[in-house]
Amino acid sequence: MESSPIPLNDLAWQWQKIEQKFMPEFHELVKHGHFCLGPAVDQFEKEFANFVNSPEAIAVNSGTSALHLALIVAGIKPGDKILVPAQTFVATVWAVLYIGAIPVLCDVEKDTGNIDIADAEKRLQPGTKAIIPVHLYGQPANMQKIMAFAEKNNLIVIEDAAQAHGAKFQGKNVGTIGKLGCFSFYPGKNLGALGEAGMIVTADKALAKRLRSLRHHAQEERYIHNELGFNYRMEGIQGLALSHKLAHLTEWTDMRRHVAKRYLQGLKDLPLTLPEIIHDDHVYHLFVIRTPKRDALRDHLNAQQIATGLHYPVPLHRQPCLKHLACATKSFPHAENFSSQGLSLPIYSGMTDTQTDRVIKAIHQFFEKE
Ligand SMILES: *Cc1c(COP(=O)(O)O)cnc(C)c1O
Repeated sequence: MESSPIPLNDLAWQWQKIEQKFMPEFHELVKHGHFCLGPAVDQFEKEFANFVNSPEAIAVNSGTSALHLALIVAGIKPGDKILVPAQTFVATVWAVLYIGAIPVLCDVEKDTGNIDIADAEKRLQPGTKAIIPVHLYGQPANMQKIMAFAEKNNLIVIEDAAQAHGAKFQGKNVGTIGKLGCFSFYPGKNLGALGEAGMIVTADKALAKRLRSLRHHAQEERYIHNELGFNYRMEGIQGLALSHKLAHLTEWTDMRRHVAKRYLQGLKDLPLTLPEIIHDDHVYHLFVIRTPKRDALRDHLNAQQIATGLHYPVPLHRQPCLKHLACATKSFPHAENFSSQGLSLPIYSGMTDTQTDRVIKAIHQFFEKE
């Protein structure tokens, strides 16, 4: 049977769900010229704060900008050392580098791919000021361990929740457990804009006030600039689109969970490593399996028009932009394992059982042939 390609993600499906309600409001927004910040962004900030149960949410123009401003208001200075996992998207360290602070890369847990606190402890050194746990692939990092470790060592915790909108650790939303939490609304994220966007959440009113000023050329009062500012404002159109999508997010996340459950069941007898699910509140931004035959499996799926992804094929300790850190590859065995063996399968809201079963069947075929 000839069947259509299965993508890694399906943003057109999401657009269909919001288009009708979105378009008339978009026309109004354009008519009123609310392009940068404005009422749609104010509204989305309130809704998102409510969604993650945070007292404050500050909208910005990307997840990278969110991390940058979060580190600034956390008081991170040039030369400060910041613990970050070695297996993540590079943006996690950009903010550290923008400030002139020093990333201290840590290995990840063997099963989850999230930062390994036992390893972080070994890498602690004088001048370490903060830790940036990433809730990788949508699964909460162990925030209980991280908060205890941070408290003991007087570290600020800034969560990179770019992949984990709505994920919870012991009933608390990720992003709201540390001092500051950063989200990305890059189109492919679980909650994605029609372009670039991001958010910082915090319970600290003073930090929130400074963040609102910093994103807007550091002005609380028009044309009075109290410090070095940024143009990190969220666009009105993004706030509007994100409000419309947020209304569906719980339902859309359940659809991802449904796909994940089907994969976990359908692939369980095969000689591959399935994602280790520690938390029921995983939001499955990505579904990453691991096998030493990753590249051959990828070719096999590709030949059947099933898209796959690599998240991420080169860990941070081997990135050219970080070679000045002179990291020894051998001290990141688990990050190495994820990067060399990990394969992201299609997972998205709107994915049908027929599609999921086709992926499962194709993977079975691959291992039968072996
Ligand atoms: C996407 C992502 C970011 C950056 O977000 P942008 O909105 O693309 O700037 C940061 N960290 C992680 C882990 C991400 O996945």
